[in-house]
Amino acid sequence: MKTNYKFHKEDKITALTGAGISAESGIKTFRDRDGLWENHRIEEVASPVAFSKNPEMVWEFYKQRYLQLAKVSPNSAHFALKKMEDFCSSNFNLITQNVDGLHQIAGNINVLEMHGSLRQCFCSKCLHSFEMKEIDFEQKIPKCDHCSGNLRPNIVWFGEMPYEMEKIDKILENTKYFIVIGTSGIVYPAARFLSIAKYFGAKAIEINLEYPINSVVLDEFHLGKAGILLPELIEKWIT
Ligand SMILES: [Zn+2]
Repeated sequence: MKTNYKFHKEDKITALTGAGISAESGIKTFRDRDGLWENHRIEEVASPVAFSKNPEMVWEFYKQRYLQLAKVSPNSAHFALKKMEDFCSSNFNLITQNVDGLHQIAGNINVLEMHGSLRQCFCSKCLHSFEMKEIDFEQKIPKCDHCSGNLRPNIVWFGEMPYEMEKIDKILENTKYFIVIGTSGIVYPAARFLSIAKYFGAKAIEINLEYPINSVVLDEFHLGKAGILLPELIEKWIT
């Protein structure tokens, strides 16, 4: 596999990871094709309206997603990104659309979880946050210890603003390389991130299972599984 780039420790490098990298660890994610996520329509389980209408069902859904995490581990793509952070430390920023926390388990520290985390929840009334592992799932709708408000998963739902957007914009304005992994560069937010990074002069690299439609904005594209391609690419980039 060919790449034109060599990274230096002082280079600012940003990666964006999406569902593809989690899927390679066996995580079942939302599929755009049939619009279903584990047999649920996405709007039934991933919107504030759904939560206010049927909090029990929404909790049951996320409880199952959370329990699934006990059975999955980071794959070689996650570990390759840990190597990247070891190489350029705080010059490396990892933005993820995934909510499974596998990057942190692989050892990455500087992770921006723009869509939240399945491993946390918070009180919808007083906003106090809790680790999911502290939650007693015997309760159909877990309650806050402080104010007895309904807890909700710390997941950015449809109609809600993704986390850390201002910080992400700043990072992209200053990055030298922007690497999109396991997500298509044509959909929001990757498309927007790509155009910001490109506008400010970054080189854009994508690794994905499908050919990009907007390949003009990419400087390099690698077709295939991140778990196979990324360890090899990172080895070439940093040595
Ligand atoms: Zn509370």
